[in-house]
Amino acid sequence: MDAPVIDGWFTVDGGTAHLLGTRCADCRTVCFPPRTGFCPNPRCAGENLAETRLSRRGTVWSYTNACYPPPTPFVAAEPYTPVTLAAVELAEEGIVVLGQVKDLTVEELHVGMELELTWGPLADGPPVWMWGRP
Ligand SMILES: [Zn+2]
Repeated sequence: MDAPVIDGWFTVDGGTAHLLGTRCADCRTVCFPPRTGFCPNPRCAGENLAETRLSRRGTVWSYTNACYPPPTPFVAAEPYTPVTLAAVELAEEGIVVLGQVKDLTVEELHVGMELELTWGPLADGPPVWMWGRP
């Protein structure tokens, strides 16, 4: 695998993709993307945020398709092919993670269905995390 599209946000380990977040040592709040400094929980004064791998499965919270290429500086394949996007809720972490959906159209998605983390090239370029069929 080439270097990921965003360093430190996900990794591919033995062909399996993992999202990388941070977990507060005091209140266990999980963040994605990973952060440094203070815990985002307003009731927590924690500053000890450790890297953690997020759950690889979640349920569709919302979804859409992007039928127009994004403006620069975002990269898009030429010619542009519409992509499917999903916001997936991770029950254990209590967060929602947006990502491109691999090999599924909006007609094949519904709120509440289970998706699993995978990865693929972003516009024929660097690898990025994606949501796919479990
Ligand atoms: Zn905390």
